[in-house]
Amino acid sequence: MRFISTRGGETVSASAAILQGIASDGGLFIPERIPSAELCRLVGLNSYAETAAEIMQLFLEEFEPAELKRMADEAYSSFDTPMVAPVVNLSPKMSVTELWYGPTMAFKDVALQMLPRLIRYSADREKNSKEICILVATSGDTGKAALEGFKDVSSTKILVFYPHNGVSNAQRLQMVTQQGKNVGVCAVEGNFDDAQSALKGVFCDETLSEKLEERGMMLSSANSINFGRLLPQIAYYFTSYISLVKSGAIGLGDEINFCVPTGNFGDILAGHYAKRMGLPIHKLICASNQNRVLADFLKNGKYNVNRDFYKSMSCSIDILISSNFERYLYELCSGDTEAVTEHMKSLLEHGKFALTSEQLTRAQTEFFGCCCTEKETLATIERTFRERDYLMDPHTAVAMYAAEEYQSKTGDDRHMVILSTASPYKFASSVFSAFLKPSDDDFLNADRLNRLTGIPIPEPLRELKGRTERHTEVIPLSEMKNYISNKLCEAELWK
Ligand SMILES: *Cc1c(COP(=O)(O)O)cnc(C)c1O
Repeated sequence: MRFISTRGGETVSASAAILQGIASDGGLFIPERIPSAELCRLVGLNSYAETAAEIMQLFLEEFEPAELKRMADEAYSSFDTPMVAPVVNLSPKMSVTELWYGPTMAFKDVALQMLPRLIRYSADREKNSKEICILVATSGDTGKAALEGFKDVSSTKILVFYPHNGVSNAQRLQMVTQQGKNVGVCAVEGNFDDAQSALKGVFCDETLSEKLEERGMMLSSANSINFGRLLPQIAYYFTSYISLVKSGAIGLGDEINFCVPTGNFGDILAGHYAKRMGLPIHKLICASNQNRVLADFLKNGKYNVNRDFYKSMSCSIDILISSNFERYLYELCSGDTEAVTEHMKSLLEHGKFALTSEQLTRAQTEFFGCCCTEKETLATIERTFRERDYLMDPHTAVAMYAAEEYQSKTGDDRHMVILSTASPYKFASSVFSAFLKPSDDDFLNADRLNRLTGIPIPEPLRELKGRTERHTEVIPLSEMKNYISNKLCEAELWK
């Protein structure tokens, strides 16, 4: 299957799309068509890895099936449960899929344990002998998951940029204590949107790419602008559904809804692709925190980032510019790449664009937007634990709130699956504050949360205490490009 740019400038093979990460016209790669999956066949598969490999194969036709299966087996063997993405039933009409049993305790591992393998394989297919330099902007979780995925992978380097004072303590510690010869981590004075936009500029900078080319290097992305990041995320929509069928909660063919805490629109877009592949999904509920650009947009059709940026406790979705929306916009524009380019130009120059009323109606038949304040997030964590004995992180709580609001507003009683995207202990102080007054010490709050709830603290988070902080640089946003250029081109720095 070929991959095309949402802005019309480029058509490439699947392996080139994964290797490059972003199209040279600044657009995002999308598959030229969405394949159908045979649900009945997938129901018969035995493992998560097998299901994931089958689904990825439909998009990566030219990849060797045995190789893809091997890569998926390896990627998902690092998870703490053989189910990889277990489904917990909270009530006859509501379940939670827990996506945080990977090495970094957030759902990003599901994709980022797979992506380095897809990139290496793609590099071989493309007969690429250059060193691949992965640049990552993170709102908190992608950074660590990408570092874990790429550390010490041959012929790669990885540089991660996170918002200074914009991530949780556990998230920050996970990144700044990262080991590995080929890794770099740096804080940026700005928010995630600033860092992501700056990186998009770096990817399209010809002077830099020539300079890197001379030194035998090339850039790629581990953010969800890379289709190889999105692709592995389609699988858990299918496995969640199949698990509900097997447990008898739904019948094969019944429609269900998913509710997704949304930032960059990658996770929920994977759900949209699952739906287009034939999975019986009725609605995708797009849950935002106070940074409610998407919720507003899905109500009035106006995407407008000219507003205050809030730092919330669900910081991984503190995002105003949801990059992956461009892929869905391409569909809403019926493949009119000029229209997509216009909208994106307007977003860049004026911070906004608007849909036509038909486009909005179409988006609303599939997506329902909802937002949740900080107070509501805490109240949801407390109430869900009290009433259902289930402890959630702030992102999952935002989704729980949205799911309940959707159900009460619409009366839709189809089974609802909430995607739980992080371990509560990644945000221990915030979660603890839903119950009692926290102290300034994150580790102490984690211990107290553990005593209060009886839920064990994941060992890798406990171990962060007292680790050496290796990566302590903080740079202004305007320095990012220079920093990248200097860092990548100074061989001495990587010894
Ligand atoms: C990244 C992230 C999200 C949002 O996913 P997107 O694909 O960016 O919409 C939600 N929750 C957590 C914990 C995350 O790390």
